Amino acid sequence: MRWLGEFWRRAGEDGTAKNLAAMLGRCPACASDFHGHYYALFAVAIARKKDVPTLTEFVNHAEVHNWKALREFKKFDGSSNNLLAFMIRCFSGGALVLVRSPFELFENDEVLMIDPIEDGAFAEVVALVPATEWHPFEERR
Ligand SMILES: [Zn+2]
Repeated sequence: MRWLGEFWRRAGEDGTAKNLAAMLGRCPACASDFHGHYYALFAVAIARKKDVPTLTEFVNHAEVHNWKALREFKKFDGSSNNLLAFMIRCFSGGALVLVRSPFELFENDEVLMIDPIEDGAFAEVVALVPATEWHPFEERR
């Protein structure tokens, strides 16, 4: 699955939203379906063997909710494995979802960590993501 650049959205269909919904089933924050929900790609890091120190930092920031530091990770390589940090946003707050996105086409994306964040704490995340970077799970009609 390709997440960025020209692959990000194609022909009005949001493959990322579909893929996230399929992997998670229900919203980790409110346990309902993804109606009225948004997602944003919050951070991304290249995941090769030599990137382990960077990836460790990435995961540590995610675990301790050091959002500002995590948000600084923006390196993506379409010809490598990547580690993606998605934010899901809904009325009850949101959730962080870490996804391993393999380069190999026959390998599936894999959810590594799901961390629901309550409404008050999620405000910090929302403040770091411009409105244009939140994508709805359904296309508006
Ligand atoms: Zn929700």
